[in-house]
Amino acid sequence: MSDDLIARVRACQLCQAALPREPRPIVQFHPTARLLIAGQAPGLRAHEAGQPFLDASGERLRTWLGLDKTQFYDPSQVAIIPMGFCYPGRAASGDAPPRPECASTWRVPLLEQLTSVQLTLIIGRHALNWHWPEATDLTHAVRAGLNNNRQALPHPSPRNNVWLKRHPWFETDILPPLQQAVSKAIGEQS
Ligand code: SF4
Repeated sequence: MSDDLIARVRACQLCQAALPREPRPIVQFHPTARLLIAGQAPGLRAHEAGQPFLDASGERLRTWLGLDKTQFYDPSQVAIIPMGFCYPGRAASGDAPPRPECASTWRVPLLEQLTSVQLTLIIGRHALNWHWPEATDLTHAVRAGLNNNRQALPHPSPRNNVWLKRHPWFETDILPPLQQAVSKAIGEQS
């Protein structure tokens, strides 16, 4: 069932006409994953490489989580399911928002099969709206820390350095318990 589903995701051309490049859905998925990373949409580098978070954002995210590349890219442990699966192109500042067709078509059936997830990491406003709809402010959601097996995160992009500088509590107060929770989530096997 999941093999068939992921094959259909990878073959998706649903919003091809609205994308700047050929569709290349980038999802890391296995039903046994215990950590879910819910981000925005792949950037151009991820689109070209066919793998998410290969850039400076990914390096910083792995540091935040205390994971090396082998752990991070192990689909049996870590699922990476953004709000949009294909590179959406550029907007006036940064990348365009994720295509809405993707979430409405694919995220529900994929998430339904992730029955072992212990912790969900939410990156960005679009993912926050989906995974924590009561949260009205991203910074407040980040500051709330671990909440109902969810943790909201600022985007790890170097473009977000100003936010990190303005909110030093993120590194001192949020990251240590988060790293413990990540280690527990992927270290405990059912
Ligand atoms: S963004 Fe989503 S809906 Fe659009 S082509 Fe890619 S996988 Fe399909």
